[in-house]
Amino acid sequence: MLYDDQNIFARIIRNELPAIKVYEDDQVVAFMDIMPQAEGHTLVIPKTPAVTLLDLAPEAAAYTIQIVQKIAQAMEKALDIKGVVLMQLSGAAAGQTVPHVHFHLIPTSVHELGKHALHMGDQEKIKVLAEKIKAAL
Ligand code: AMP
Repeated sequence: MLYDDQNIFARIIRNELPAIKVYEDDQVVAFMDIMPQAEGHTLVIPKTPAVTLLDLAPEAAAYTIQIVQKIAQAMEKALDIKGVVLMQLSGAAAGQTVPHVHFHLIPTSVHELGKHALHMGDQEKIKVLAEKIKAAL
């Protein structure tokens, strides 16, 4: 996907815009979400230009997830939290609003984010979908 290097997170990476950073190295930066969904909501972003997780090089994705874990562990130690929801939205249709790939770490219960696991799916339809995904691998 075409990358806009003027997006907010690209500008935070270049230090053109301020951010409340909690971690930074040569590949990744983590900072507090400006409009938190829960207290302690933190974002982790790779510095490499990629719009969605689907555009991100596997090596960058692998490294970023290591930092996601590191930040989550730090949040667990530092904050009085019971759980952390890891959220990653890829694409506007999924709700992505900033076009630079990022991982949300949201200290909360998943039930506060909206319910899942409520209604049993149609297993036959699910199998067909699974086969399609498998065939595309
Ligand atoms: P998404 O909807 O998955 O693209 O999430 C983008 C997130 O970035 C939202 O949770 C916003 O609150 C957050 N956000 C937008 N602008 C900033 C900013 N300047 N600094 C920190 N977080 C931001």
